[in-house]
Amino acid sequence: MSREQKFWGWGEPGAGPALPNHAAGELRERLGVSGEVVLSPVALAEVRLRAPVLAAGLRAALEGAVGAEHVRDDREVRVLRAAGKSYLDLLAQRAGECEDAPDVVVAPASHEQAAAVLRACAEHGAAVIPFGGGTSVVGGVAPLRGRFETAVCLDLGRLDAVLDMDERSRLARVGAGLRLPELDHALTSHGLRLGHVPQSYEWATVGGCAATRSAGQSSTGFGRFEDLVAAVRCATPAGELATLGAPASAAGPDLRALVLGSEGVLGVITELVLRVRPVAPERRYEAWMLRSFDAGCDALRALAQAAVAPDVARLSDQDETRTTFAFAGEAGIARRVSGAALRALRYRPGCLLIAGWEGDAADIARRRAPAVRVLRSAVALPLGRGPGEAWGGARFAGPHLRDALLDRGVLVETLETAATWSGLGALHASVRDALEAALRATPAIVGCHASHLYPDGASLYFTVLARQDPDDPAGQWNAAKRAAGDAIAAAGATITHHHAVGRDHARWLEPEIGALGVDVLRGAKLVCDPTGIMNPGKLLPDG
Ligand SMILES: Cc1cc2nc3c(=O)[nH]c(=O)nc-3n(C[C@H](O)[C@H](O)[C@H](O)COP(=O)(O)OP(=O)(O)OC[C@H]3O[C@@H](n4cnc5c(N)ncnc54)[C@H](O)[C@@H]3O)c2cc1C
Repeated sequence: MSREQKFWGWGEPGAGPALPNHAAGELRERLGVSGEVVLSPVALAEVRLRAPVLAAGLRAALEGAVGAEHVRDDREVRVLRAAGKSYLDLLAQRAGECEDAPDVVVAPASHEQAAAVLRACAEHGAAVIPFGGGTSVVGGVAPLRGRFETAVCLDLGRLDAVLDMDERSRLARVGAGLRLPELDHALTSHGLRLGHVPQSYEWATVGGCAATRSAGQSSTGFGRFEDLVAAVRCATPAGELATLGAPASAAGPDLRALVLGSEGVLGVITELVLRVRPVAPERRYEAWMLRSFDAGCDALRALAQAAVAPDVARLSDQDETRTTFAFAGEAGIARRVSGAALRALRYRPGCLLIAGWEGDAADIARRRAPAVRVLRSAVALPLGRGPGEAWGGARFAGPHLRDALLDRGVLVETLETAATWSGLGALHASVRDALEAALRATPAIVGCHASHLYPDGASLYFTVLARQDPDDPAGQWNAAKRAAGDAIAAAGATITHHHAVGRDHARWLEPEIGALGVDVLRGAKLVCDPTGIMNPGKLLPDG
């Protein structure tokens, strides 16, 4: 295996920032938790695991497919591949609840080896769970077995090469298991990069981003991951499904689009042709303060509809703004606001907007000028580059701090959706109300930001902090999540803008796409995966 995360948290052991002291004070004041470490994860040796179920015939077939050293069922690898990185995943992993860990972890090194693994699993009857970076927050890599006894984790980590570069067309053909930083590093020598930067950037793979239709923090400017995919190659139990690398096509419905977002239920993506772009010599992140969330959303809409939105655009509501300033403290965003702006803020607290542009200096100046005009006409207060750059510098800190919050008995989780500009305000209010009502037994902070702008709408991303219910922490979050999901469905918004469906959103798929829509997906699954071995229990409500 290449680099690995802690089995119970984010990043390699010791990586990432620690929780600053003033944040502990804020937790005490607003959530009533002590701010001291009260819960620690179990050691690897204490994790509860069942003995693997792996018939001799299946093991021999898997070893024949990838080589015996790449068929592993030791404690460490099974625990590392037992879950994704949602709050519920981390609660279980920290408590050592890994009874359902995959029976075996198999790592192919080529499309042909992946296809041979699928043939072996179909023949011997075993569930296959594709595993990229394992950063799913919707139960996408949960080792559910469906009707099978054995769960085989198909680890894509060895499919990590840049296979071909067409610099003239700015296309890169890559293995699906390549992680985003490694891809950008490999592209640098060509003066190129992908430009897809989700908060999970450090660990997510290109195949996982394709399988979940991920959206990065610069998606307003650079597009969603699916916009960056020119072609896919997929191994399915029924054979190879591959699309042409033509820039566009009218040859029937788009099969590339069918594979994107298929979450491993049709087959496993082994290769992708990606659209890459020149390295940006400059970046400029800055902050503005808007009077209210509604006024801010109006400004975002104006930016998007005039096609002058920044590459990164992220407007926090009042609660998220307050939490952002409180957690950043003296050393963070607040300290980097100019004196005049800070004085103005005392009289006019509002909603923080981060706006970011990437490109060469002339391009940034050309695109920024009309955006600044829109913001000024919305009476936005400029806070300057300092707080914007502070956000840019800390953009990957959140998942590390989440581990520290879990240590302190804090419930911390996020969820996201998207809606049209006409529905965004009501959606914001109804999801926030649903979360607050479900969590009313304990002090909670519900913050939200609007980001990922389109001419017709935007995404809303909620962050929830609450004092953990020590008797039933999973039940506490499940109730809140259920209430929020129902509020989203009732508002006619999507159950997910970029986290995907996985296990946790499957109940809301049919309300969103209709019974016939679900049948269309079932039909595709039946053709590609006639015995139903691929990622049971994900995406499809009863899949
Ligand atoms: C802290 C944190 C921040 C996040 N921030 C963002 C964000 O900003 N934007 C965003 O879009 N998402 C975000 N996510 C969610 C997650 O990172 C994305 O869904 C990501 O696309 C998953 O990539 P992965 O390689 O980790 O996939 P995995 O978690 O390994 O898999 C995700 C799903 O895809 C399937 N799968 C994986 N690889 C393949 C393959 N090659 N072929 C077929 N199926 C496959 C898996 O079976 C699973 O169902 C975040 C998650 C965390 C924990």
